[in-house]
Amino acid sequence: MAEKTLFEKIRDRELPAEILHEDDLCLAFKDISPQAPTHWLVIPKKPIPRVAEATTEDQAVLGHLLLTAGKIARKAGFAESGFRLVINNGPDGGEAVPHLHVHLLAGRPLTWPPG
Ligand code: C5P
Repeated sequence: MAEKTLFEKIRDRELPAEILHEDDLCLAFKDISPQAPTHWLVIPKKPIPRVAEATTEDQAVLGHLLLTAGKIARKAGFAESGFRLVINNGPDGGEAVPHLHVHLLAGRPLTWPPG
């Protein structure tokens, strides 16, 4: 069996994380190294490595990640002030953990373009 990703270990409570939301398909927790006052990660429970490797079989879970990110952002009061969702893919995209994750950043004005 392939070795678990860092985020599978968080999913399975083998590594600590401040978990904010969990359902059948996904998990949301606080990023360990926040880049904004609010920096959360939403991950699929299924270890899809990155967007470029997702398949049509993953369509429902991909949609669910965005809906969940929107829901938890709304619940935390960021619907009006705004927030940013980011998905890094591959080396030039800044991906460090090969387990698909949506960054949710909020709580300060975010600049564009990102670095
Ligand atoms: O998109 P990228 O792969 O670079 O993001 C990985 C993110 O996972 C980083 O923001 C990092 O701080 C976070 N992380 C975490 N908990 C860990 C290891 C990494 O929140 N144990």
